[in-house]
Amino acid sequence: MTTFRKLPKEVSCLTRDWFPKGTDPLVESNIRFGSRVVNFGVVHRLFFFRSGRAGTIQFFDIDKTPALEIERISKMEYVPPGACKEKSEQAMLFLREFLETKGVELTVSYHNSFPFISDASNFLHHEIFYLAADIINLLPNSHLGHSHFIELKLGGWSGSFALCSEYNDPTVHIYNFALEGPRRNFIALLLHEIGHSIERIMEPSDLEKLEELRKKIQVGLGLDYLDGRSARIARMLSGLKEFVAETYLVYVVAGRHMDNIGRIRPDQGDLWKEIKTIFKKYFEGIEYIK
Ligand SMILES: [Zn+2]
Repeated sequence: MTTFRKLPKEVSCLTRDWFPKGTDPLVESNIRFGSRVVNFGVVHRLFFFRSGRAGTIQFFDIDKTPALEIERISKMEYVPPGACKEKSEQAMLFLREFLETKGVELTVSYHNSFPFISDASNFLHHEIFYLAADIINLLPNSHLGHSHFIELKLGGWSGSFALCSEYNDPTVHIYNFALEGPRRNFIALLLHEIGHSIERIMEPSDLEKLEELRKKIQVGLGLDYLDGRSARIARMLSGLKEFVAETYLVYVVAGRHMDNIGRIRPDQGDLWKEIKTIFKKYFEGIEYIK
């Protein structure tokens, strides 16, 4: 039996291309990775994450035109900075209580990575907590609070080689990087990391089948976030763990596209239908619509 759940618009927009053709590559790559611009009189300085691992920020001066463009787009795409303490705490409490009912503990250790920006604050913007609740609310209860997902950690960094977020059984950890940059990255990474925890509860026979199918894939399905579709597809196909995590995300955001691959590539259609059937079993028959 199939039941349908409606995706919030912030989530369903991940299937659309992020940037219009002709966007300055400097602007695009910096927006994708959450860079910020600060204007010092006539000097425009671009601050960017050197790597998520250490959370190190570096900078260089850039021309006015790309600087203004990065400022303009980041205002639309990023989770806003300068959070109000009361609103942030209220929203945190909301998410904490919501997750408690699902058997997941919320921990928050956020510090603004750009303290030199005038409206920076060390309180996570309330929007993040409500968005996290909206996303998690889409999932079946069996995906939450099982022995491989009992903590959601928002903020801070990790010593691992991951750049943006990680799954460290039983914790889904979203680094500062994904909490203060584009909403797209936060949404996709949250679902991707929860997907890693689902791999731990899948039956061995399903994992074997998925591995067999993964090796036959020639047409991948990717969403446009971080470094873009092709990079995400390459990562998806790189091994079983990444395949399960990224396909989990794709199932939620673009599961309906899995049915259509056969129209473009008949030889690949059945393969994706089989993959979808396995995921649908774990989603207890839920499919997601725009
Ligand atoms: Zn991963």
